[in-house]
Amino acid sequence: MASKQNYVKKMEAKNQLKTDAGIIADRFPTVAGIVINMTYYHNAENPILMHRTVNFFPESHAFFNLECMIKGCEEGGFNLKRIISKQIKDKKKVIRGEMSCKGKSGDLRANHSSIDYEINISYSKKTKKKAAKKTKKK
Ligand SMILES: [Zn+2]
Repeated sequence: MASKQNYVKKMEAKNQLKTDAGIIADRFPTVAGIVINMTYYHNAENPILMHRTVNFFPESHAFFNLECMIKGCEEGGFNLKRIISKQIKDKKKVIRGEMSCKGKSGDLRANHSSIDYEINISYSKKTKKKAAKKTKKK
């Protein structure tokens, strides 16, 4: 039962982090959507573990800490928060990079897991010209 309690605690902690992260529309009002394409690698003969696409919408939580897919990896994961914040600041549409999991637990090696990522951000085209575009009288 202890493990179930731990699990519940973990989920609660994660939900709290998500709540603390806020909503994308509040944090990054210029963002219309974010799509992250990832390839997960692990330290094995066939290194590609999986491909994954994650979508974020303006109403999504601005929580970009993606979990490590390796069983038993406790504190690991891939936190793209800083990268995405910078990308939005720079108004870049697409960036690519790689990151390795810093999680360590038990016999997990330092290079047990990494990702290639491509982050696509679309920005809302909010213009103040809307008012100027009056509907023509018929
Ligand atoms: Zn990991």
